[in-house]
Amino acid sequence: MTPQSRCVECDEAITNPICPGCLDTELTYWVSERDESLIDSFRNNNVTPLEEYFEETQCVVCGNRMNLCAHCFCKDALEFIKERNPGLVNKFIRHFDFELIS
Ligand SMILES: [Zn+2]
Ligand SMILES: [Zn+2]
Repeated sequence: MTPQSRCVECDEAITNPICPGCLDTELTYWVSERDESLIDSFRNNNVTPLEEYFEETQCVVCGNRMNLCAHCFCKDALEFIKERNPGLVNKFIRHFDFELIS
């Protein structure tokens, strides 16, 4: 039996594996629809070095390996949005509902 994969950051079991790459695509799309000016800095700032995280678990969307949970990935992005455009924070939380408020 393979042990269930855990997130490298929060050590929780990854129950809904969507890799940082797929989340990043979704996130960039979401941000660009709401505040184009955020995109450049979002890209440059990119919170999470994606390559480090492709390992244990397979993403349900693209099949890449990953070991960072969606919750941790979005938490980083949320911090970024908070700084740049606080008005988007609530919408972000509603859209990317990965138990961000805990
Ligand atoms: Zn995590
Ligand atoms: Zn993926």
